[in-house]
Amino acid sequence: MKVASFIVTCLLIPALLHAQDASSQYTANHQRQALDIYRTVIGFRTAEGHGQVPKMASYLEDLFRAGGFAAGDVHVLPLKLESGEETASLVVRYRGSNASGKKPVLFLAHMDVVDAKREDWTRDPFTLVEEKGYFFGRGTLDDKSGVTLLTTTFLRLKAEGFVPARDLIIAFTGDEETGQLTTEALVTTHRALTDAEFALNADAGGGVLDESGKPTSYLMQMSEKTYATFEVRVTNPGGHSSLPRADNAIYQLADVLKRIEGHRFPVQINDATRLYFQNAAQITEGEAGQAMARLAKNAKDTAAADILWRYPEYVGVTRTTCIATMLRGGHAENALPQSATATVNCRVFPGVEVSEVLTTLQGLAQNPAVRVTMLGNPQASAPSPLNEDVMRAVSRGLAKIRPGTPVIPYMAPYATDGSILRRAGIPTYGTIGLFFKASDDFSHGLNERVSVRSFFDALEYWHVVMTDLAGR
Ligand SMILES: [Zn+2]
Repeated sequence: MKVASFIVTCLLIPALLHAQDASSQYTANHQRQALDIYRTVIGFRTAEGHGQVPKMASYLEDLFRAGGFAAGDVHVLPLKLESGEETASLVVRYRGSNASGKKPVLFLAHMDVVDAKREDWTRDPFTLVEEKGYFFGRGTLDDKSGVTLLTTTFLRLKAEGFVPARDLIIAFTGDEETGQLTTEALVTTHRALTDAEFALNADAGGGVLDESGKPTSYLMQMSEKTYATFEVRVTNPGGHSSLPRADNAIYQLADVLKRIEGHRFPVQINDATRLYFQNAAQITEGEAGQAMARLAKNAKDTAAADILWRYPEYVGVTRTTCIATMLRGGHAENALPQSATATVNCRVFPGVEVSEVLTTLQGLAQNPAVRVTMLGNPQASAPSPLNEDVMRAVSRGLAKIRPGTPVIPYMAPYATDGSILRRAGIPTYGTIGLFFKASDDFSHGLNERVSVRSFFDALEYWHVVMTDLAGR
């Protein structure tokens, strides 16, 4: 008896220690598989320059094949970047009965991440670490959660013998954080594989929790701003620093940057931002909430927009923004600078031409020695229309995990693959299914994390959303 209870105690101690991990209560097959996939994909350093995206794509390809998807329905599509680095996208078709007669639904996520340095992080960024109810690691949120959730849901539905009434397609891109060439190729060269009625993007949107952990709203991304980068460059004959000239490239650049800092682009509103402000006003306290309500009623209320100027999370919803992000100039400590250059990154409100922003910046230069040029070839995309089927599916998914959470369409101040799909004529809705507090959003930053509950809830969310859309 004594011996037996000793053995039981010995067996229990490790079990109890293990039970401290919040994830250990999620024991269903699909939950264990999701965790395994999550851990594996976070282990691939899929940042630009490390060449790991094709390896991750091939790991996922094997999983889909093993899960019952025909070889002809799983495509790894390699692509060589200008740098010579190989990347890839992955497309998987879940064949349906075609009973609905409708075009497929596309599910989108990206395999690449912004790089992370081990020495900057508290924990190894490329090892999934669970601690105090959170999963930590680069990509836990952006966007290996999306990849894991969609992959596991496809495999789970297949294992359940589910037959959709229309085809479902997964498309994982390989360079969302950089050139988005894989995304562009998916809607052009590989369009036959990806053509769809609309797409759900598991790289945007999501639920908002207040700091006590209570859900307040669920944001569905309907449109996004255009990402455009400009270079402001001043050149000067220079000379010896003991013989200063009246004109100096660094001072001139500083003057232009101060004018850019002081410039405010016109306040704008569209359907998505009006709905967003109407809803957000009801759950946002203080002057910010009041300013939102005023703006939703009257887009010309610039005083209200000026209040939101002080809130980084809202300012981008009200207008085009441009901000200096990099600076370089001069070539020796005892020489007058022959050039000074600043990088200015703009997020352009939908409907505004990027060329108009260039003209505005050129106007702020006010000096023929200053040249403003646009980098790359930024392209605008129109907002996606409200879609009843998507709204219903998302609401049903939320009813399962966080009942009563209102769905709020919104415009993202950041850019995703969604803009390329929208431009290619595939309406796209950003809806990752995860919930987080404002204090938990560390995408691109240090110690990126997702709460364990949020991760496993999102698995159930996607199961409902996919079966709902597949049945229509
Ligand atoms: Zn992302």
